[in-house]
Amino acid sequence: MLRISLDKIDKLFEAVSASQTLYIPVDREDGAAEYKKYESGMKLSNALNTVRSAKDFFFPQTENLVDFKMEGKNIEVIDVREESEDFVIFGVRACDARSFTILDKVFLAEPVDSYYKNRRDHGTVVSMACTRPAETCFCGTFGIDAVVPEGDAVCYNDGESLFIEAHNEKGQKFISSISSLLEEGDTSKLEAEREKTREILKKLPLANLTTDKFGGDKLNEYFNSDKWGDLSESCLGCGTCTFVCPTCQCYDIKDFNTGHGIKRFRCWDSCMYSDFTKMAHGNPRLTQLERFRQRFMHKLVYFPANNNGEFGCVGCGRCLSKCPISMNIVKVMKALEVK
Ligand code: SF4
Ligand code: SF4
Repeated sequence: MLRISLDKIDKLFEAVSASQTLYIPVDREDGAAEYKKYESGMKLSNALNTVRSAKDFFFPQTENLVDFKMEGKNIEVIDVREESEDFVIFGVRACDARSFTILDKVFLAEPVDSYYKNRRDHGTVVSMACTRPAETCFCGTFGIDAVVPEGDAVCYNDGESLFIEAHNEKGQKFISSISSLLEEGDTSKLEAEREKTREILKKLPLANLTTDKFGGDKLNEYFNSDKWGDLSESCLGCGTCTFVCPTCQCYDIKDFNTGHGIKRFRCWDSCMYSDFTKMAHGNPRLTQLERFRQRFMHKLVYFPANNNGEFGCVGCGRCLSKCPISMNIVKVMKALEVK
């Protein structure tokens, strides 16, 4: 497998960013990690994962879809779309790498979302195998291998070198663009590191969490469960869980009058908000119980029912660490599966 010494990783970033935009996870002042556009001197974060997921690159929090210019009774529709430039997202963890497969099932299904597809076509995902997963991780529950993540190209870190291999043509193109910096490497230490990580994964607190009792055929059973009342009672409806989640994909479309015309935006929305899906006739989900149930039914029942058994969660653990009342999908799964 091809490798580069970790002390030369800056050279790799310089080479990639010379021809296309490169995003890497970097440490913020508060110690948390976030993706930033690479500039000379930036250091790759050692954090396990970023606070916000990598979904923003393909499905941004807000985007201008179209503009309208009005003169009298005439309305001119202005297509503001621009072809994306090629870009690379480096260091995507296994959970977030899988989240793109889930988002693809939503945005690339007919009718294809051309805004999302444009960015997907131009983005190269270079994932990073996990070495020290956290207690909140449970990607294995959804069949994700943290040690061998998905992605166009994948990096493995053995503490001294970064090993890189391609999974497809895009990944191969990425590797070709930096081939002068790479050399054949001895993977024996890497194999030992992977084995250590597998042992950690087996001992994580959520290692035995399974989806066996969930899926599309349990719709009525779970929808009518008497557990939803207790589970949702303290939910603040703040939407934090949906905004940090790499697989949540709900959005709203809003028009903004600039005084010179109308700008139409797509903005992330949250099924946890009281005005979510509010229509002219009113709101179909009037209580927080119904809204809370919708979020988890979508991930654990509706999504697999419509997508050949694929669940709408990747076990990234973000909702476990960010919910202000410590409610999360694991608590919901554990409560619902007890009969
Ligand atoms: S983060 Fe917690 S409190 Fe906020 S909407 Fe999600 S479950 Fe409710
Ligand atoms: S529901 Fe929670 S654990 Fe699952 S993908 Fe979303 S944020 Fe991560």
